[in-house]
Amino acid sequence: MTFRVLVTDDIDADGVALLASEPRLRVDEVPTLPKDELLARIGDYDAIVGRSATRISEDVLRKATKLKVVGRAGVGVDNIALDVATELGVAVINAPAGNTIAVAELFFGTLISLFRHLPQANASMHAGRWDRAKLLGSELKCRTLGIVGVGRIGGEVAARALAFGMTVVGYDPYVPDTRFQALRIRRAPTLESLLAEAEVLTVHTPLTEETTGLIGRGEIARLPTGAVVVNMARGGIVADDALAAALDSGKLMGAVLDVYVKEPLTGDHPFKDRDNVMLSPHIGASTAEAQRNVAVEVCRSVRDALLSGELSGSINVAQSSGRGFTDLHPALMVAQRAAAVGRAILAGQGGRAVQRLTVRYGPDLAGTGDVLAAAAAVGALEGVLESERLNLISARSLAASRGIELTVTESAALPHPSSVEISLAAGMQELAVAGIAPRDSAWRLTRIGGFHVDVAPRDTLVVLTNKDVPGVIGRVGTLLGDAGVNIAEYHQARLAQGGEALAAITVDNAVGADIQKRLMELPDVLTATIVRFGATSVAGA
Ligand code: NAD
Repeated sequence: MTFRVLVTDDIDADGVALLASEPRLRVDEVPTLPKDELLARIGDYDAIVGRSATRISEDVLRKATKLKVVGRAGVGVDNIALDVATELGVAVINAPAGNTIAVAELFFGTLISLFRHLPQANASMHAGRWDRAKLLGSELKCRTLGIVGVGRIGGEVAARALAFGMTVVGYDPYVPDTRFQALRIRRAPTLESLLAEAEVLTVHTPLTEETTGLIGRGEIARLPTGAVVVNMARGGIVADDALAAALDSGKLMGAVLDVYVKEPLTGDHPFKDRDNVMLSPHIGASTAEAQRNVAVEVCRSVRDALLSGELSGSINVAQSSGRGFTDLHPALMVAQRAAAVGRAILAGQGGRAVQRLTVRYGPDLAGTGDVLAAAAAVGALEGVLESERLNLISARSLAASRGIELTVTESAALPHPSSVEISLAAGMQELAVAGIAPRDSAWRLTRIGGFHVDVAPRDTLVVLTNKDVPGVIGRVGTLLGDAGVNIAEYHQARLAQGGEALAAITVDNAVGADIQKRLMELPDVLTATIVRFGATSVAGA
């Protein structure tokens, strides 16, 4: 059987050659097609490989009756109607790792350009001037670099910064101490402590609810005067207005930006005509090597998906063996949500870097341990990593690479044959969260720590601990109601009368940090954890 592959958007030749060398693949390479042409042709193809220029919209996917795989040479999949692809069982495959070095090198290129006034030097020479006296720069050596997000790119930046003789401090609550030891950099216990000493501050986190506006006015105020702020991760992690104000006031010496909230950046942006701001048009990944790496990475994954059904690069469709995936979905939801609840509660107690994840499941779920463990890893990592990278296939290896020890066992000792119990350990804290996924009724979470609950959380779950005294439920209900938050389920549990109680509240709306703070200020409320379940889907084909 042969498969037809449409390659578009100028994919690097090494990637195309990898596909073309396979006799069972017939490859057509075309320039980026206008939508009507794409619609006219897509019905003939089993796979399409492109970059962001080709939009794989709902109508393209519905017209593509033979399509099995969409390959994206790069990370972002904003140009692909992911939900529709998932609904239709079309695997979407991306290439998340190929551009790490390109971003790390751009970091030093632009930072040194800023410190040595290279754009001005170059412009003055081309204008026939010899402005040596005006071009006194400064050095990286002995400066303190603060890295927020010590993942792939943050780690490569750290290694290169050490070679420049910089002092490197990192803040990433989601990775274990061993990551910092391996990189030989110091770990800042809090973001505030990192800010206090970062003469150059750089962010390398995904854009998540937690990192949106992570560096705002308050954070910039804590930096040493004359510091430089760099954002090559995603627009919005550093707040534009706060950055512009700090450049105006002289608090910051300069800034380096490669990414923006709205791209392309419009002509009237707040950083225009500032000599001390280095701007580039989201070119972090734009090197020939990175383009080749991502093209080869995605073409290899597309080839394997077509020829052997190997979907380890897919971000939306998972393989499963034996039991149908639909049957398994409730158990996967329990595993994912229980892990997410456990992680959020431990994070509130100061244990943000999960070190151990233990999955136990009842005999009705025999043979599903691996995929349950993967769903638990998704729950433990969602909101921490970019959702494009996290799926049932990648989750276990991502967990392992972040130092999380994952074990999974079947157990007849659990309270129900379809029980799934996730135990998490982070720092000195441990917590088990469990649920059930019976064949004949809906899945539920049934235990949080020592408390028995009965809830099926949707997008947001509020978990409160409080003193078991009259009036708390009413006050919580009133506060949430006044804030426009609709309660779907409110389950109150206690260990003993008058002791500590726990409430698991399923709500229909998002609950922000302000409401969380007000909940914690209510009399007799001890803790308030808001669990926002991520966009990562454990549902698949
Ligand atoms: P990664 O997943 O390897 O690392 C991200 C790190 O951020 C993780 O270690 C995670 O624990 C940490 N993190 C998450 N939330 C955090 C928080 N609230 N505080 C501190 N740390 C937190 O990702 P990566 O490959 O290193 O990519 C990093 C960023 O760079 C992403 O946003 C990615 O989209 C962006 N990127 C930009 C370009 C470009 O062209 N400019 C190219 C590639 C990647």
